[in-house]
Order: sequence, then structure tokens, then C-alpha cells
Amino acid sequence: MIKGRTNWTIAHELGHIILNHFIEFDIDNLNDEEHDILDREAEIFARELLMPREWVKSNCEHPLTISILAKLKNLFDVSWQAITYRLDELNIYSKDYVLSLHEARKIEKET
Ligand SMILES: [Zn+2]
Repeated sequence: MIKGRTNWTIAHELGHIILNHFIEFDIDNLNDEEHDILDREAEIFARELLMPREWVKSNCEHPLTISILAKLKNLFDVSWQAITYRLDELNIYSKDYVLSLHEARKIEKET
């Protein structure tokens, strides 16, 4: 398992613990929808913990390039997907824009 993914899993599970999910809910007897809600809360916790808004903002250089994105990914030790979604969520760069950088890089490699 890659390290970024491990951190994410740990932060997510920590979210369930800190948010008292195991105390306030009978985890084994929730339906899928209820599970999804708790998982979304844990994901929000993980994003805030691993990629705090102000740190992302102050470390993101402009205009964003694939190498700046790689620097952010390494700095926060998260996956490409995680940093991409976080930039979108914080309204720094849209997901579409960041994905277009990935596409451009792929095309460069192929030609
Ligand atoms: Zn979960």
C-alpha cells in the first residue's frame, strides 16, 4: 500500500473515533445510507486534518503546474486524487483544470 493512501485511511478512521461515531451509533446495525453519512463525515475530517485550508492556500503557487501539484502532493503526503479534490473544494483550482494538467502531461509523455 502506498504511504499517501495509508495516511488517508488512518485519518479517516481517526475521524470516526474523534467524531464519536463508535460511541454515538450502533455501527453494526446501520443501513447503507447511514454508513455513507458517517463515512462522508470521516472523509471531511481526513481532508481537514491532512490538508488544512490555510496550509494548502499558502503552499499553492500560481499558476498551478503539474510539478507544483506534485510538490503539494508530496508535502501533504496524499494521493493525486486527494490533492486534486482538495484544491477544487477550496475553490483554488477546479477539478477540471487540475485534471487537464494531468491529461497534458500524459500527452507529453506519449509523444
Ligand atoms: Zn469509514
